[in-house]
Amino acid sequence: MAGRNISRKQPEIQVQLDQEHPTGNFWVDNGLVALCDLVGEGTYPVDKILEEVQQRLLQKTGNVGEYLDENTGELREYEKVNWVYPTNLFIKVSGNAPKKKFSGKEYPIHPPCFELGLRFSKNQKYCDVCGDLAPVTDAKMWMFPFIVDPGKFGNFYSRGKRGINLCPRCAVAGAAGYLNWLWVAQGRDALHFFLFHSDLDEITRLRREVLHPLSLLRESRGGNIGLPFSGPYLHETTLGLLLELFSHVRRSEHLSEEGRKLLASLLGAEDSLPPAPLTLYAITGKPGQAFNMQVFREFSHLHALYRLYEAWIKALGGDNPQRTLTNVFRQFQTREGNQYNTLWREKIAWAVLEFSDPLPYVEAFLFDARAKEKNPFPLSWGTEPVLDHYAKEVLNVDENLLRVLGGFGHSLGTAAHEKNEMGLLYGLRNAKNLEEFLRVLNDIQFRLELTVPEKLLEIGQGERVAGSPWVRVKTMLSIYAMNNYLRAEKGPKPEQGGSANEQSAGE
Ligand SMILES: [Zn+2]
Repeated sequence: MAGRNISRKQPEIQVQLDQEHPTGNFWVDNGLVALCDLVGEGTYPVDKILEEVQQRLLQKTGNVGEYLDENTGELREYEKVNWVYPTNLFIKVSGNAPKKKFSGKEYPIHPPCFELGLRFSKNQKYCDVCGDLAPVTDAKMWMFPFIVDPGKFGNFYSRGKRGINLCPRCAVAGAAGYLNWLWVAQGRDALHFFLFHSDLDEITRLRREVLHPLSLLRESRGGNIGLPFSGPYLHETTLGLLLELFSHVRRSEHLSEEGRKLLASLLGAEDSLPPAPLTLYAITGKPGQAFNMQVFREFSHLHALYRLYEAWIKALGGDNPQRTLTNVFRQFQTREGNQYNTLWREKIAWAVLEFSDPLPYVEAFLFDARAKEKNPFPLSWGTEPVLDHYAKEVLNVDENLLRVLGGFGHSLGTAAHEKNEMGLLYGLRNAKNLEEFLRVLNDIQFRLELTVPEKLLEIGQGERVAGSPWVRVKTMLSIYAMNNYLRAEKGPKPEQGGSANEQSAGE
């Protein structure tokens, strides 16, 4: 087969593969790393490299076709192949073979060859990715999936309109980019893929020591890495991926000690000097005949996210803080028919990944989704400490205020349940301005015979309550109160252990 592939090639173009010259483009750099790992550093003909890539991207489909063997004049069977899922959503190069008529039907005269052919210009031009002056090829979507829809991603892909010139090295690396991605499929709704970027050395080590061992565990229709939760949206799935990766830093059954240490240093979990910064690229699109890219995000503050994660694990304690934390984020979904609506989780995950404010989304989930379920559960055990810590560290809410909100929220929820006054909690939640908020507090005092803590009446400049924007105080109080209302509804239960309050959340 190899001989046939090479027969009609243009003058042989050589490509030098090494780790010394990163391009700065995350897709191409990941492809370079995959190639160096596959064939080793060195100089190779373009076609040889493409064949190596092809071998790994093609798989037998399980179907059988027929071709006409011209030597014997008989039909023979061959096993059909195609590009492995999900690269087949990108690579639209189909198999080629000349055909001949036999018994009134057309047959190929040999099994079709699937070939990633590249044609390079005679003149040298500048490569749009690395800047080298070389013979170039016009980048195709399969080589470089990010040139799809230049209209939609105008800024990022501004060169897409006149095409992108790639030198031989960037072109073969583009073809190999698939070999280094993590992907997660959400049925027909979404396909996510993830690529890490740093200097080539770090990506290589990450590939060998961490991603390979983890992704080898599970190559299936659903993806090449197992996540604690995922959904059709980008941020929730990215958070699921990070929680999974972070969990291997402290101890791991799947990584070697070296891999674990590498991950720790890449995420800034160790005292040693941090290596080159690590960036995560996440892309979400709809799988159809082809991949329709919808969202593209770059996460470059993984160190800070890891520190947040570590602090949560510490704050949660218990036997399995990892599971508790995962359950906290997994829970923000509602069942609709056979499916889960995970829009709440997406918004909360977005806020956390951006160090923004997830509390309004938690409040909306609790009041608009959870409390309206038939037999509503309170939030899973661990949610309040997780939110408290976030409010304190990221949103700078005063610690004393948090304590007051927790305590008063508890009394408020319990009393509202006792007196059957859920409406008061909705009144609180719906307060549109400071004045309304204070009026509802007054109502609460009167109807539930509760004393509102003075701290909540410390109104400062800019409509702040005890130093925080009034609406944040209102939101946190609503969350705690409603959560305790639902808790009271379920009757006294052990607060710890985790499983009592957890909804089973199938993925
Ligand atoms: Zn280049």
